[in-house]
Formats: sequence, structure tokens, C-alpha cells
Amino acid sequence: MKKGVNKVKFKANGLIWEVQSVQRDNEKLKVKGAECLGVTYYKDLQIFLDCTLPKELFRQTVIHELIHAFSFSFGVHLVANEKTEEPVCDFMGSHLDEIYTTTNKIMAACFEKGVK
Ligand SMILES: [Zn+2]
Repeated sequence: MKKGVNKVKFKANGLIWEVQSVQRDNEKLKVKGAECLGVTYYKDLQIFLDCTLPKELFRQTVIHELIHAFSFSFGVHLVANEKTEEPVCDFMGSHLDEIYTTTNKIMAACFEKGVK
């Protein structure tokens, strides 16, 4: 699979978000002078991702930013308490795939005809 600059749209609770993977030096990836792997702009409903990241880190960053976007879209945005939201996003970014795979395994075992 080839890395590159791309645009994707998705809907969360009726809000249409736009996700863009951009080059590392893109201004949108800078927050208060710091370089970020990904940034979510709530008021613009936009997410920017560094397309030069290694694939696994890129994936974790996608999940991280999507948790921000979904929590914002569904009114449980915790930006007033960044101490909580950031660790939640980091945790989900690192472990969501694992939780999902394990869930599927359990579902398949408990409902034999379930999809893997
Ligand atoms: Zn974050």
C-alpha cells in the first residue's frame, strides 16, 4: 500500500468530518509550535494526519483522533478535562484493535456461526 496525501469524509451524529493525510511539514500539524502526529479541529470538523508516519503509528493516530471527533460529535467532548480525554484517546489508539479482535473471538466462540 502506498502512503500519500488523501482526503476522506465520514459522518458522526450527523456531522460531516473531513480527514486529510498531509505531509509532515504541513502547518495544520503544528499546535502552538509543537509538531503533532495528528490534529483534530473541532470548529472546522477537520482532522489532519501525518502521512509520513509508519503504518502502525498512523493507524493508532487515526483511532486517537477519531475518538476526539466522535466524543465531540456526540457531546461527550472532554476538552475541559484534557487530563482525561488524552489518555483515553491514547489508550484506545493502542488497544482498540486488540479489544475488537478479542470481542470477535469471543462472539465467534459463543455464537458459533458468528463472523470471525
Ligand atoms: Zn489527542
